[in-house]
Amino acid sequence: MYLPLAILSTENLRHNVAVIRRQIRNNVQIMVMVKANAYGHGIRSTSLRLDGLVDYLGVARIDEAIALRKCGVKTKICIMQGVYDQGSVVTAACNNFDLVVHNLEQIHCLDVPLPRKVNVWLKVDTGIGRIGFQPSEALCVYQKLQSCAGVGDIILTSHLACSEDRDNAMNSRQMKIFAEIASDFPGKKSIANSGAIFNFPESHYDIVRPGISIYGISPIDNKSSENLDLKPVMTLMSKVMSVRDMPSGSTFGYGARFTSTKAMRVATIAMGYGDGYPRTAVDGTPILIKNKMCPIIGRVSMDMITVDVSGVHNIQSGDLVTLWGIGLPIEKVAKFTHNIAYDMLSAVQLRVIFNWA
Ligand SMILES: *Cc1c(COP(=O)(O)O)cnc(C)c1O
Repeated sequence: MYLPLAILSTENLRHNVAVIRRQIRNNVQIMVMVKANAYGHGIRSTSLRLDGLVDYLGVARIDEAIALRKCGVKTKICIMQGVYDQGSVVTAACNNFDLVVHNLEQIHCLDVPLPRKVNVWLKVDTGIGRIGFQPSEALCVYQKLQSCAGVGDIILTSHLACSEDRDNAMNSRQMKIFAEIASDFPGKKSIANSGAIFNFPESHYDIVRPGISIYGISPIDNKSSENLDLKPVMTLMSKVMSVRDMPSGSTFGYGARFTSTKAMRVATIAMGYGDGYPRTAVDGTPILIKNKMCPIIGRVSMDMITVDVSGVHNIQSGDLVTLWGIGLPIEKVAKFTHNIAYDMLSAVQLRVIFNWA
C-alpha cells in the first residue's frame, strides 16, 4: 500500500518566523495564526514548535485554544472569533486566552466574576464586512469595556480585505479608518496579516498576525516565496502505483477528459481529492517526479491521479513524487487549480500521514 505523506519541516517553520521578524521593528510582537489545523499542518505539532518562539498564537474558536493548552502550549492564545457565553469567558480567564470582542452580546458575557482579568481585542470593521463594530462606535465600546471589572488590556484590531494587492485602493481606505481610531486609542493595535507585513510597513503597529507566510507561502500577488526568502513547511508527497505504456488514442480519468494523441508512458499516483488534492486541477498541472515536472492528464479521482511521465527516465512503481512543497511551490500548483494555497493546505485530509522533520 502506498500512502500519501506530508513531510513537515521544523527548520523551515523557524526560518519563516525569522523572515517575518526581519520585516518588523524590534518592539513589534508576532501572533502566528494556527487556525484551521494550522492551515492543514497540524495545530498541536505546529504550535508546540512555535511555543516560546512567538508572542501569541491565533485560533478561530475556543475548542482550538483548549486543545493547545491540553497538549502543553504555554504561549498566549487569542481567540479571533471570541466567545458567546459566560462559561467560556471564565474558561478563557483560567487559561490565559485573549478574546476578540466584535459585538454587544459578547460584551455582556464579560460581566461575570473572573479569577483573573482577561485581555480583549476590540474588533472594528474597517471594510472587510464580516464582523466587528463600526468605526464610529469604537470609542463608546472602548469605554464600555473599560468599565467591565474583568477586562484587562484592551487591544484595537481590524482585518484587511486586499492586502495581497499593494495597489488596491481598499488598503489605504481601511488603514486610514484604522489610523483615525488608533490615534487616540491608548492600548496596543494590530491590523497586519502576512500581505500587509510585506506590503505596508506602516500597518505593523504593535502586533502583526502572519498566517500563510509562516507556512512558507508568498502572501503577495506578484512576488514568489523564493523572492521573499520564505520556505515551504509542508511537502506533500506520494508514490507511483503503476507505470504503463499507452498507445495514441487512449483516454484517461472520469469523463475521459484527456485523450492522448501520441504514445505515452503514464504513471498513476496514490493521491486524490480524498486526500485533499484539488479535483479542480486541469490537464497540465505539474507534479514533480525525479526532478522533472510532469503534467497531470485526465481528471483527479478520489484516490488516484494520472500523469504523463514520457519524459522521465527509469520510472517505476514505488518512486516518490512531490505534489507541492520543496521543489514545487504550492502557489504554482494553485494557478492550475483555480484555487489558492490557503484552501489547498487546509483541505489536506487526516488520512495523509504527517511526519515532522
Ligand atoms: C487568518 C487571519 C490572519 C492571517 O492571515 P494571512 O493572510 O494568512 O497572513 C490574520 N488576522 C486574522 C484576523 C485572521 O483571521
